Amino acid sequence: MTTSIIGYPRIGAHRELKFATEKFFRQELSEADLQAVAAEQRKVNWKKQAAAGIDFIASNDFSFYDTTLDTAFALNIVPKRYQNLAVSPLEKYFAAARGHQSEAGDVKALAMKKWFNTNYHYMVPEFDDGTTIQLDLTKLLSEYREALALGITTKPVLIGPFTLLKLIRFTGQTQISDVQDELVRAYVEILSLLVTEKVDWLQLDEPALVFDLTTEDICLFKAIYAALLPQKQTVKILLQTYFGDVRDIYTDLIQLDVDGIGLDFVEGRKTAELIETHGFPTDKKLFAGVVNGKNIWRNDYQKTLDILKTLPEASLIIGTSCSLQHVPYTVTAELELPQDILRYFAFAEEKLVELKDLNDIFNHGQGESLTANQVLFAAQRYQGNQVVQAKVAALTDADFTRTPTFATRERVQKDIFELPKLPTTTIGSFPQTADVRKNRLNFKRGEITKAEYDTFNQEKTKDWIKWQEQVGFDILVHGEFERNDMVEYFGEKLDGYVFTKNAWVQSYGTRCVKPPIVWGDIARVQSLTVEDAVYAQSLTDKPLKGMLTGPVTILNWSFPREDISLKASTLQIALAIQEEVLDLEQNGIKIIQIDEAALREKLPLRQTDWNSEYLDWAIPAFRLVHAKVAPGTQIHTHMCYSEFTDIIPAIDAMDADVISFEASRSDLSILDALQANGFRTQNGPGVYDIHSPRIPSVEEIQDVIRRILTKVPAEKLWINPDCGLKTRGVTEVKASLENLVKATQGIRSEL
Ligand code: GLN
Ligand code: ZN
Repeated sequence: MTTSIIGYPRIGAHRELKFATEKFFRQELSEADLQAVAAEQRKVNWKKQAAAGIDFIASNDFSFYDTTLDTAFALNIVPKRYQNLAVSPLEKYFAAARGHQSEAGDVKALAMKKWFNTNYHYMVPEFDDGTTIQLDLTKLLSEYREALALGITTKPVLIGPFTLLKLIRFTGQTQISDVQDELVRAYVEILSLLVTEKVDWLQLDEPALVFDLTTEDICLFKAIYAALLPQKQTVKILLQTYFGDVRDIYTDLIQLDVDGIGLDFVEGRKTAELIETHGFPTDKKLFAGVVNGKNIWRNDYQKTLDILKTLPEASLIIGTSCSLQHVPYTVTAELELPQDILRYFAFAEEKLVELKDLNDIFNHGQGESLTANQVLFAAQRYQGNQVVQAKVAALTDADFTRTPTFATRERVQKDIFELPKLPTTTIGSFPQTADVRKNRLNFKRGEITKAEYDTFNQEKTKDWIKWQEQVGFDILVHGEFERNDMVEYFGEKLDGYVFTKNAWVQSYGTRCVKPPIVWGDIARVQSLTVEDAVYAQSLTDKPLKGMLTGPVTILNWSFPREDISLKASTLQIALAIQEEVLDLEQNGIKIIQIDEAALREKLPLRQTDWNSEYLDWAIPAFRLVHAKVAPGTQIHTHMCYSEFTDIIPAIDAMDADVISFEASRSDLSILDALQANGFRTQNGPGVYDIHSPRIPSVEEIQDVIRRILTKVPAEKLWINPDCGLKTRGVTEVKASLENLVKATQGIRSEL
């Protein structure tokens, strides 16, 4: 057995690449200096992998922004609007990644999408009718040579042709079938360059094979590889999959003339079964992804060895379940957490050691590392919370069902709130200006007292409430000035979470997130938001929305436990949020918004699994949160991204009274689906795009509202912007929202 790495994080252990790239964006760093930082990061990564004794070390997994975008550039799948800019090649690349505005031209960025079921986002390559595929393998070859010069032989990584075709957006008449041959020719050319370069192995990433595949997909895949593989000469090909199992194509895969197949044993529920049923050919290497590349917990060696023992030993190479780019760099950078906690974590660097350990144990039997690992897993990791566990165990159907019915509540609430037609509101936050962030920093550094910190935030709330009243909003918000982040804020107050200082993971480009870690049973040990909500409500006679984050989103934006199911953790969080909801209600808050911004995030890749593996517990978990409130208490929710046309019935089944969602960036494409499904929940599709600093005019917003009204009945419609006001400046927010209210008032008089 030997060891393999699919890919390594690239932002830098201290986010060196991020900071250098952002400096380059601000023109504070030259391109040459940025290249030097990049080269240094690659060197550090390779040396780490080599020092850990990894046999198959990845190259070309580095990227200035995104590897799918790199692959598109290597193949010239780049719209003319970027190519025509009179800027350097690197700047053209960044223009496609994030847009460009200068004398050289003004172009928007390519679309960005979630990378499979991760929180990483990739740039969607665009293929228009003017695109001609043309190979430029400079990046891959130079990075391969760079490693070689350090004495390290690597296996270059590329997105495979099938996955690339599935990810490309065709914007003209051209279709997959028109470019398939051309694309294969480019990959053949890649192979011949690699032969000349004497590259031993090439890793082609084909994660698209873990989706539900149609007969057409399977034909396409087979046709591509039938044309490609006879040309590989001396280059060995590793066909790498991850994020699930390949049940729809396994029997075809094992007949291919590839030299290795990479399979995921962590998320691939059926991987072991596929091998058991259909076998694995002796002429190929099996790259077994047994160490979780997505989560931060130590590997249970005994469990892993038990899996490995069932696999064909002679062909076995072990690796991670996916690229390590989805986990932080190293546990050793966490100086503030006790060893008792840290010893349970394995980030990228520690996972290298785990692979090496597993390899040694497998070859030489019981050793110190196995014993130590067994001791770790035999010990009780944390003190469980029996009360919470018992509460979850005692849940019955009634706990997930709000009474009376939606329709009855709608009538009751109409009488209570006496809202005008098309009620206006916002999503919750107001701009987190420099002074708001400074106040938080001062408090964190101990430079001001808690009382001073709170007073500052309360003054902000007071100003914004006054402003909302003046402008004429119907339902007000307090502005969320006390929140750094919509998950961390709650995590910090709940029992059961731990937080890191340096455990950053790339979200997209230079943006990173630092997800909190679900350590134990989650419990509410103090009120989370009641004080702020009560204070804000005391300032106004208008109803004010209490503002919470929902259990599914809290879980989806954390590193979850592996010793209990996602469902079990989510239900614990749901019970904690339920207590908060009831507390808010008791304290006179009549409208409560429970954000499920990230509800869609963990939707399984296979549509056939959506209900049985996710929606069947995620939607009830949300209902649990609000099932016990009085009929007159109005429950709102909010969802980001409008990509949920396909789960509309599930969203109705959340049984909220009102939902707002981000819609304007997708050109209101959700509306048809709402209409087609007879969407019951009152709803507010965002009427303008807050991601741009431009101020929409009254007429523009009215056009949008009129368009919405052709699909959503007036009695169901709320008027609100898209989410994310906290990231904007005060001037544009005020001007835009004033126009939003004026626009609504105008339309009301037409109804
Ligand atoms: N209530 C949050 C806000 O307005 C919602 C954030 C989000 O949708 N991601 O900031
Ligand atoms: Zn949102």
